[in-house]
Amino acid sequence: MLEARDAVKTMKAYRSPSAGLTGLNMNMNENTAGCSPRVFRKLASLTVEEISRYPHRDRDEEIVARFLGLSKDQVVLTNGVDEGIHLICEAYLREEDEAILVVPTFGMYAIYIQATGARIVTVPMHPDFSFPIDEIIAAATPRTRMIALANPNNPSGTAAAPRELLRIVEAAPDAAVLIDEAYFEFYGESVIGAIAQHDNLFVARTFSKAYGLAGLRIGILAGSANQMEMVRRVSSPYNVNAAALAVLPVALSDQQYVADYLRQVFDGRLRLQSLFAELGLQYWPSLANFVLARIGPQYRQFIDAMQQRGILVRDRNSDPGCEGCVRITLGNTEQNEKMFASVREAAAELSCHHKQSEGSAVHGAK
Ligand code: PMP
Repeated sequence: MLEARDAVKTMKAYRSPSAGLTGLNMNMNENTAGCSPRVFRKLASLTVEEISRYPHRDRDEEIVARFLGLSKDQVVLTNGVDEGIHLICEAYLREEDEAILVVPTFGMYAIYIQATGARIVTVPMHPDFSFPIDEIIAAATPRTRMIALANPNNPSGTAAAPRELLRIVEAAPDAAVLIDEAYFEFYGESVIGAIAQHDNLFVARTFSKAYGLAGLRIGILAGSANQMEMVRRVSSPYNVNAAALAVLPVALSDQQYVADYLRQVFDGRLRLQSLFAELGLQYWPSLANFVLARIGPQYRQFIDAMQQRGILVRDRNSDPGCEGCVRITLGNTEQNEKMFASVREAAAELSCHHKQSEGSAVHGAK
């Protein structure tokens, strides 16, 4: 009987947390306001010819490279950052290798690393979810062939300064160091300018978050021309679909749309953090489009109470260091107002219940 490789048989399958649920998706870190209307109009005007031909990504790679201040050979467009991660694992990891991840972090690194059979070495984020830079450097061995870090990190929303990340890049010259900047637009700092100086540095970006194009699956992987040549070899030449390629230049040119959305997220982020403080709930100041908060033992009831009000939020209770935690994605101003009101009501409901059953107020204060 046909059997998959052992590495695959022992992997956990990914299950989408929003499959089958209805409501406002404040659980996936998408742009809940959608994409630019100009992008949508472009999509609606796709021609038969555009969709019946194989999609060539070269032209868009040139546009993206110019936008990022890089050269064309330092950029590969990917089917989302997810594929960028997969391509790095495919190009560099062998079964006998080690890959370093912090925990908690984005789940797809572990999935693609595990599929290669390489060993994952985890380094815990600090309790305040700042990056354990020295600990990561200390964990690197001659077997370390990959280090993947999301900056800002998911689910914590915390970030490291570019110069700190570059210490890791320099300390592990034989490892592919992937700095996943999926949430770059919400933070504003990047290591992308250091690509020319570091042959082992890879930077990922996405159109799924700030640009509101998660459904089209477009991401960017940038790195030294030398390494990107290797990555290109393992990628499908037609990995990014025609619709995504057609709208990408329009999406990049409508920076006004992105700026308007960012303003609403920044305002919402501050207000949500103030609300958590007011409710006596621990939270971690975020540099992304979401905030992680510790609701406490009643986190499940909180999630249900939010869902009853039409808002999906993300259960992060089983992530290391995140017991009782919930992650909420910010939306536009109108969506945020609705979410704040629901958070207040849900917290009041729990507090009430908590007082009745245990005689104390909402727990988990900072
Ligand atoms: N990286 C991080 C850190 C993320 O949180 C996510 C989405 N949750 C992704 C990558 C996935 O990005 P994409 O949609 O481009 O595959």
